[in-house]
Amino acid sequence: MSERDAPPGDPDPLRKLSALLSRLPGIGEKSALRLALSIVRADPEYKAVLAETIDTVRTTMRSCEICRDLSHAARCGICSDARRDRATICVVAHPQDRMAIERSGVFRGLYHVLHGVLDPLAGVGPAELQINTLLERLRDDTVTEVIVATSPNVEGDATALYISKIVSPLGVRVTRIASGLAVGGELEYADLSTLHRALEDRRPL
Ligand SMILES: [Zn+2]
Repeated sequence: MSERDAPPGDPDPLRKLSALLSRLPGIGEKSALRLALSIVRADPEYKAVLAETIDTVRTTMRSCEICRDLSHAARCGICSDARRDRATICVVAHPQDRMAIERSGVFRGLYHVLHGVLDPLAGVGPAELQINTLLERLRDDTVTEVIVATSPNVEGDATALYISKIVSPLGVRVTRIASGLAVGGELEYADLSTLHRALEDRRPL
């Protein structure tokens, strides 16, 4: 449909696409327009696959019923992998932290994704995080160690301490990854050997 045929009040699709892209983190108005123009000029096959993939993400992505990580099935690939060590749970703040640790290949246990860290000033308390679901997983005696792998900054440390306070009384060992990462550094940007050392040198909390 050319612009002339568009019914009045129907927004220009290029402008609409650009406005939608500009809502993504780190994308300003200029970048959004550049991306929108690239998509418009891309070959039809790319556009079809892009649209299809966004629709698949929309209809299938959800939380894994066990670890709360993003998953396209009721249980994610890691939780349903029988070869993983079910006695150890590594607690991370965000899905991208889980991905970073998984890329390092050093951890063979299971994960739990909190979807944030405690941040009282921003109104994020324990109820806003996936903490109750973590406690539910510790009900039977399968899990013997919880490794808290939140980033070594104020919020990450506070979250680790809070988890230690509520998990330790259940008789589960709680450890914290070593802060080999630069202070305040984000876990997802750590290189592989740093992540490896941080996990190997974890300390009791
Ligand atoms: Zn899972």
